Amino acid sequence: MVTDDSEPDAGAMPARTEWTMRYDVVWVSDLPIPNEIRGPACMLGPGAWLRRRAQRRVAWLRRPLRPRHCCWHHQVNWPVAAEVAVRLVRQAHSAGLHDGDQIEAYILERLDGEALGELECEGLLALVGASAGIELNDDPDPQWRYVEGQHRVAAQLDQGVRETVVQRLEQLDPGRLSR
Ligand SMILES: [Zn+2]
Repeated sequence: MVTDDSEPDAGAMPARTEWTMRYDVVWVSDLPIPNEIRGPACMLGPGAWLRRRAQRRVAWLRRPLRPRHCCWHHQVNWPVAAEVAVRLVRQAHSAGLHDGDQIEAYILERLDGEALGELECEGLLALVGASAGIELNDDPDPQWRYVEGQHRVAAQLDQGVRETVVQRLEQLDPGRLSR
């Protein structure tokens, strides 16, 4: 949970706003093409863009790339990491948990039971760590479409991942704060 006490308010009590991360399970194909990427080279080039556009529309047109050693993002086996992330986030939601820090704790408690490799564990945490996940820019006319995570989205498109987890900052209901 993030608290921002910094907003000045002349003469009154300081404004106090509390925010939390919400987690959404989304289709990777519905996410914006992450084309602000400037590197590394394995993420770029006309082939990569074409592949990602095709992958978004008709997944069966191409065979997904397997994990490879060019960079951390392509080394992670994202189909495995994202499947666990999606499943555990859905479980947490079903258990009535909706704040990012609660969901992160719920998933950390269950990590040992998943027997993930080191890289897939890192990939999972890069999706479900509170405030560490993929975050879209919700400005009406953003210069950048992602606040965080465009390389993670590109790598998941490259590997043909269908569903993943994104996070969004949401202001908490003031009624809840007074409790
Ligand atoms: Zn790479």
